[in-house]
Amino acid sequence: MAKIVILAGDGIGPEVAREAEACLRLISGARGLGLTFEDHLFGGAAIDASGDPFPEETQRACENSDAILLGAVGGPKWDGGSVRPEAGLLKMRGTLGLFANLRPARTYAGLESFSPLRADIVKGADMLVVRELTGGLYFGDKVEGTEEASDLCTYSRGEVERIARVAFEAARKRRKKVTSVDKANVLATSRLWRRVVTEVATQYPDVELEHALVDSTAMALITHPTRFDVILTENLFGDILSDEMSVIGGSIGLLASASTGTTGTAVFEPIHGSAPDIAGQDFANPAGAIASAAMLLDHLGHSAEARILEAAVEQAIAGGFRTRDLGGGTRCSEFGEQVRLSVDAQL
Ligand code: ATP
Ligand code: MG
Repeated sequence: MAKIVILAGDGIGPEVAREAEACLRLISGARGLGLTFEDHLFGGAAIDASGDPFPEETQRACENSDAILLGAVGGPKWDGGSVRPEAGLLKMRGTLGLFANLRPARTYAGLESFSPLRADIVKGADMLVVRELTGGLYFGDKVEGTEEASDLCTYSRGEVERIARVAFEAARKRRKKVTSVDKANVLATSRLWRRVVTEVATQYPDVELEHALVDSTAMALITHPTRFDVILTENLFGDILSDEMSVIGGSIGLLASASTGTTGTAVFEPIHGSAPDIAGQDFANPAGAIASAAMLLDHLGHSAEARILEAAVEQAIAGGFRTRDLGGGTRCSEFGEQVRLSVDAQL
């Protein structure tokens, strides 16, 4: 009986969110999961309606939901305006206390040649970056002078503990390996990070833990991506590494993400933006949004159904259904339909 809020947003957001929602409705109906869906305004669409990218009513609905499925926000229409659609995302992060960002990256069978990396290097790659989202350099005190500037980097034991737990729990559902990434040879915050992660690891004896430095990890990600399962790291390093590994799959349209927080509600969204250049033409790749819906099912405890949805995306791609970003002629809506046919066949 979980309540899902759909924030379709702007540009291709509504196109990909619609496909993902239809997949969830199909699975919920067939398996009796009892999911309910509610649409709310967010981003540019909400600015147009009320001047606020995250209106009060949307905020209430999000707080009372079990999960939020987000399309994409922003676009040229609102660039340069006094209120930006992206401000809604920041406010939502605060409201829901979203402190963990989970970004999976993987190779789909048949798409290896779309990666800028060699096909034999990326074949079989399947990893998850767990990034701390509310601490570190981005949120530390800042001094901005003309001759000197500084950004303070702070982490507390509690902040490291809670993000480490997210990573170890995720690893338990995967290949049971965590690579904790830091710069402990020079940074004090990284030495605290390493100590606390090592302590948390004792509660997860079934999960293997390794520590790695961020510089060598940046290299290993593109030379040996298959070596990684879960990568646990702080805010700045996670920002950089998650973008680096996003090239592995071959299209930004394939990538999913989840942000989990302190309230129990989590947000699921493809990592791409609103793609105004292709919006409204049914060209967008909805695979990232649908894969985000699979993460949503996992979050609600419906793991078997999540695997079914993931497998359906794999089968659609392996079956040659490819949107324009992958050199094919399949429409966004056709790809979604194909995924649902494959879901149906598995149910
Ligand atoms: P942001 O809105 O976060 O600033 P951006 O404008 O830099 O993002 P996107 O909106 O993600 O980037 O678009 C970057 C490029 O990728 C565009 O050419 C866009 O058409 C393409 N793209 C993004 N998402 C998809 C998708 N789901 N399917 C196909 N192409 C996509
Ligand atoms: Mg954009």
